[in-house]
Amino acid sequence: MAYKETFWMACDSTEQLRAEYGPFHRRDEAEAEARKLGFGYLLRYEHLLDENEEIQEVRCIFIELAGAVPTEPVSVTLHTRCASCGESATHAKGWQAEVWADIHEFEHTRHRVRLFEHSHGKGLKEIGGWRS
Ligand SMILES: [Zn+2]
Repeated sequence: MAYKETFWMACDSTEQLRAEYGPFHRRDEAEAEARKLGFGYLLRYEHLLDENEEIQEVRCIFIELAGAVPTEPVSVTLHTRCASCGESATHAKGWQAEVWADIHEFEHTRHRVRLFEHSHGKGLKEIGGWRS
């Protein structure tokens, strides 16, 4: 007799590089968290277990939340984070990120600032080679 185990994740997109939060045992818990985070999707995982509780099969189903409203007014924000000391900041414009990095790297010798782009529904993506 196969046994089915189900759990839920809140996630921001259906892309492979998505942000996920969870797991939750109940759909309403995952949904509440998704709305709090401004995530538009739920992911339902089903594990089919055999009598020895070994996972035989994993199924996942995306569920789009109706009426999910992005919490961020802009769809893309820039995040800078120093690879050396971990200090970070958020910027609306590319030049602001550069100024922040310039000042930080000037004040802290040999620190290196990394740049990330956060687009809603896509998660965080590093922009490489931005200060070569
Ligand atoms: Zn630093």
